[in-house]
Amino acid sequence: MIGAFNRVRALMKNLVVILYLLLFPCAHVQASTVVIRGVTVVDVSDGSLHPGQTVLVAGNRIEAVGSVREVAAPDDAKVVEAAGRYLIPGLWDMHVHSVANVALDSSLTSVAARDWHFPLFLAHGVTGVRNMNDGTGDMTLALSKTIRRQLAEGVLRGPPRFLSAGPSLDGDPPLGSNPVIVRTAAEARAAVQQLVSNGADLVKVYENLSREAYFAIMDEARRRGIPVDGHVPFRITLGEAADAGQRTAEHPDALAAGCSRAAESERKRFANVLANYDSLPDGEKFLAMFRHGRALYDSRHPAACASAIEAYRRNGVAVTADLVAYHHVVHADQVLSDSARMQLVPQEIRRNWEKWSDSVATREFQSILRPIVPLELENVRLLNEAGVLLLAATDVGVPLQVPGISLHVELERLVEAGLSPLEALRTATLNPARVLEMADSLGSIEPGKLADLVLLDANPLEDIRNTQKIRAVVADGRLYRRADLDQLLAGSKERPPDH
Ligand SMILES: [Zn+2]
Repeated sequence: MIGAFNRVRALMKNLVVILYLLLFPCAHVQASTVVIRGVTVVDVSDGSLHPGQTVLVAGNRIEAVGSVREVAAPDDAKVVEAAGRYLIPGLWDMHVHSVANVALDSSLTSVAARDWHFPLFLAHGVTGVRNMNDGTGDMTLALSKTIRRQLAEGVLRGPPRFLSAGPSLDGDPPLGSNPVIVRTAAEARAAVQQLVSNGADLVKVYENLSREAYFAIMDEARRRGIPVDGHVPFRITLGEAADAGQRTAEHPDALAAGCSRAAESERKRFANVLANYDSLPDGEKFLAMFRHGRALYDSRHPAACASAIEAYRRNGVAVTADLVAYHHVVHADQVLSDSARMQLVPQEIRRNWEKWSDSVATREFQSILRPIVPLELENVRLLNEAGVLLLAATDVGVPLQVPGISLHVELERLVEAGLSPLEALRTATLNPARVLEMADSLGSIEPGKLADLVLLDANPLEDIRNTQKIRAVVADGRLYRRADLDQLLAGSKERPPDH
């Protein structure tokens, strides 16, 4: 009886394995020994180039880096001949919404963000993402945890480094997509405790938190040892947020209030708008926050920026640049007509974006944002000159942002803002590693570090667009050659199965 039971159990187990392989044919991209031979290693910390290097990857770690003579390739190694090519650390996109569909796409249940986002990140050399507001409103973080496990197992192909805030915390009325509302200090503390015990990597704060709730979040997070990232709520000055220990401030808007000569009166005006929020027409509800941002930019005076920038610098606050978000909204027609980019987006999502960009509300949105776009570059330039740590980010999950591609466009825009290609490259490699306190294992190509690597056909320090010439990606030790990456891209066109 027991023997028969065991046989049935063994059979079932085999069936499960077979089914698994049928359902997830690419799950067998296993980590093994990988040798990248004859490559020029790019040291992103100082911009030095080290030609003729062999990089040996064993398991998910870099085991050795040295001259071709010093580092021998084991017999069973997968060898990538890389003479004339350049090796950089895997890239990070530090602001995405890839867990659940947010905002515009939230009504689409047939196309889950995670199914097309994650493979596209990987296909473009993005091996780490920080998910800001998972869009679920679920404090158990169930979906985020599933995704983390699937990414680690390779069942879901995507960046092996995945950090998630869970739902963001906002006040009443909330101004973002599907956050958790906290009104009082007690509610704020309880929310932080819940996020910590459910495994959030960080707490994301949003625009309309009350002062009471915000400072309670900061205090509770400090006690619990969890970082707080996000928008600086409009009732809080940038200096207060920096002094309270907020780790990152999102988007170039993070400096708008600090650069305004009318921040105080605009704060009062916006508080009044929100006090009567329910009476606003729906379209105006969405635009209210952006009108507030625009008013701050309209009263911008560059000399006023200094003290906010100094507060960021002094406290080590990092700013996510995200120079693509508003830019793409304003240039929606151009982005939507880029067929190479749009063919990677599932058709239903693309149609959603097209419909959205064609609406009267979006035209109004564009006219609000248009004058802001060049000023964002200016803000990022000022922050960079002052030595504030910048992070590359895209807000993938909002309309028009195509995972992976957007990150490379972001790097181009950072150079447009005045960063050198090396500085731009750092915003997606070394700077995220430092901010996330992972610099001992990520952000550079050295023995002992995690094997997240991108092999390029040309030197990214000569032209930042060379980050787009990807020959191969190593993600947590797994090698994806060009053909494998092309398969990921093709898979996204066909829409992966819902799993
Ligand atoms: Zn966002």
